[in-house]
Amino acid sequence: MPKYVIIGASAAGIGAVEAIRDVDPVGGITVISEEPCTKYSRPMISDFVSGKAALPEMMCRTDAFWDENKVEALTGRKAIALDLAEKNVNLDHGERISYEKLLIATGGIPFVPKMEGTDREGVFTFTNLSDAERLAEKLEDSKNVVVIGAGLIGVSATEALVRRGLKVTLVELQDKILSLLLDSNGSEIIENAIRKAGVSIVTGSSVQRIMGKAENDQSVGSVFLTNGQQVSCDVVIVAIGVIPRT
Ligand SMILES: Cc1cc2nc3c(=O)[nH]c(=O)nc-3n(C[C@H](O)[C@H](O)[C@H](O)COP(=O)(O)OP(=O)(O)OC[C@H]3O[C@@H](n4cnc5c(N)ncnc54)[C@H](O)[C@@H]3O)c2cc1C
Repeated sequence: MPKYVIIGASAAGIGAVEAIRDVDPVGGITVISEEPCTKYSRPMISDFVSGKAALPEMMCRTDAFWDENKVEALTGRKAIALDLAEKNVNLDHGERISYEKLLIATGGIPFVPKMEGTDREGVFTFTNLSDAERLAEKLEDSKNVVVIGAGLIGVSATEALVRRGLKVTLVELQDKILSLLLDSNGSEIIENAIRKAGVSIVTGSSVQRIMGKAENDQSVGSVFLTNGQQVSCDVVIVAIGVIPRT
């Protein structure tokens, strides 16, 4: 039985492995990760989409990290149930892992509001490598993108899109961008820089509906904003925050 089981192998899971090894060099550690690829920098998915960085440059730990820390890494595996009484974690392939100590480091999932059209082809979130890979492929034949949410993730996505030469409309419900991070002066400085890069910024508004193309209703064709404006686009990125998985 591994002494420690950690569900999630991103920033928190990796940090926990290092912290455990500081005080316990020998106790068995098993890490379970739904994502097949671990140890990459999540903030760098913007550079991946823009083409500035390839996957090897995004790695925040070496290939040998798990071995060096004597960790059994179960990647591409999802924990689907916990038996707290028996101290077991059940995995999606039917396997059962016992533990003495369990850490749930499963992070957040992007919040996608209930809105007409979010199921259309061309709607993306922007939080992990798989999102970034699918988006990068779609952008090959796209021209106009609407990003919903001008927080850290929305602005990060916008930067990648601008670097790829796409026309971006950034829609923010608050009256300024990056409102949770910056004061009014800071927000204005960044907003001016983003506008200068050719981005249309719409503040004090949100997306009401995502509409299909005239020739193919299943694919994204435009969005209707709460201010009555309609913006044509091939892709919509929903970046209005994450909610805890647990
Ligand atoms: C584009 C972008 C830019 C960012 N920029 C910054 C920045 O500049 N500064 C900053 O501080 N933060 C930034 N962040 C946020 C930062 O990446 C997160 O705060 C951090 O990744 C959280 O780490 P975590 O380990 O708690 O969770 P996560 O990174 O969400 O990782 C959780 C992991 O658990 C896995 N998992 C979930 N459920 C299960 C399950 N049932 N079974 C197995 N595995 C599971 C998930 O697949 C995931 O790999 C950014 C994020 C993004 C997306």
